[in-house]
Amino acid sequence: MQHFPIFLAVAGRRIVVSGNGETVLAKLRLLLKTEARITVIGADPADGLRDLADQGRITLIPRPMQAGDAICAALFYAANDDAREDRRVAALARAEGALVNIVDNLEDSAFITPAIVDRDPVTVAIGTEGAAPVLARRIKADLEERLPASLGILARIGKGFRSVAERLPMGRVRREFWAEYYDRAGPAAFDEGGEEALRPTLDALLDRHLAAPVRVGRVDLVGAGPGDPDLLTLKARKALDRADVVIFDQLVSAPILELARREAVMIHAGKEGFGASMPQSRINELIISHAKAGAHVVRLKSGDPTVFGRLDEEIEACEAAGIDWSVVPGITASSAAVAGIGQSLTKRGRNSGVRFLTGHDTKGFAEHDWAQLARPGEVAAIYMGKKSARFIQGRLLMHGADPATPVTVVENASRPDQRVLTTTLSRLEPTLSEAGLTGPALTFLGLAPRAACAAPAATRTSEIQAAGTA
Ligand code: SAH
Repeated sequence: MQHFPIFLAVAGRRIVVSGNGETVLAKLRLLLKTEARITVIGADPADGLRDLADQGRITLIPRPMQAGDAICAALFYAANDDAREDRRVAALARAEGALVNIVDNLEDSAFITPAIVDRDPVTVAIGTEGAAPVLARRIKADLEERLPASLGILARIGKGFRSVAERLPMGRVRREFWAEYYDRAGPAAFDEGGEEALRPTLDALLDRHLAAPVRVGRVDLVGAGPGDPDLLTLKARKALDRADVVIFDQLVSAPILELARREAVMIHAGKEGFGASMPQSRINELIISHAKAGAHVVRLKSGDPTVFGRLDEEIEACEAAGIDWSVVPGITASSAAVAGIGQSLTKRGRNSGVRFLTGHDTKGFAEHDWAQLARPGEVAAIYMGKKSARFIQGRLLMHGADPATPVTVVENASRPDQRVLTTTLSRLEPTLSEAGLTGPALTFLGLAPRAACAAPAATRTSEIQAAGTA
């Protein structure tokens, strides 16, 4: 390690920057986060610098640097975009005892400025000793994503509560109190009630941990999206990161399961034994028993849990058992499928509403308002519509739908093996049986792919042509 990371006390101290343009402004974006007194010295300064001086945020000296300018400076930046001038001012500042950084000149700098993730008072500094700035930026982007924006506020309020929390015994009990505050109770309270809500939450949490210092389980009902892991929400990722137990459905894709915490217990709720679905009551029991044992349970469902996801049954089970729950929405299959064909679910002048239908319900093939659906311009996204295709087709034609109404079936939407079948209502069957779909498929009534999306993408051409010419 050639550079040793430290956090320097700069509040109230001087930081001097020599230069007059964009490079200085770039440095100031970081320096102005501190409580240092900042002086910028340079002839003919850029407007942005004059503005900052007018706002009283920096002291601006509009002339080239002279001896004496860096006296008492803790840090000094040479940012002139001119190697000779930088050398000259750096020598002056060094002589006056400041630590010197020359922008883009690692060799002659006494310190370097890291990439910073700012959740004040939590600050993450990332340095690569100049070896790989791209890597530093990627790590920064990754951390920016992972650390909630509220973290700084949580930490500030948490800091003020430290002495109160000493009422809890040291060690595991106190650690679990803080873990619950930072991982769950704090972020949830902040989301709901903002900063004000944090102190009361800490008080309540402390009472609870004082009364019964045991782990309390909870359940997150999480949408896993249509399959592409990039279509997971950040909240879903965070829940997977923290899960003790993940109970997942058949349709949740393997790359998403990979993202669960290594130590998490993974339970497949889609199939049990030789292929029968696990009954809902059994799934409810599993969720509740793990949560009661203190686990953070993630109930992972494909797409959005609020769309044909049997969400209510599971919420009711949690409520009956007195277990905290929350819903993390996801991208539903029809959103992904419609994106895959370059269309919109609604369009001005065509359809002012869209229906999400299921091909099946508890009683078998599902009945709908067929007369309404048969009208020109209607758009419907049909879930679980493979087996019921012939039934739906028959009902619609019987109610007067135009046999030429476009119908598009998207199999494995958002996944590498996505397939698009383009057909019409009168050809829906046999198009579907001939295609022999094996993955989940979403059927759009009243939508054809945008021309550009029906163009010869290798995997889809044959289906599109076969169906289109039929
Ligand atoms: N909650 C899920 C839907 C569950 S019902 C959601 O919001 O997407 C299961 C049905 O969803 C499947 O039968 C299929 O019609 C559809 N589906 C789920 N994932 C899909 C995908 N990747 N591509 C196409 N359809 C999908």
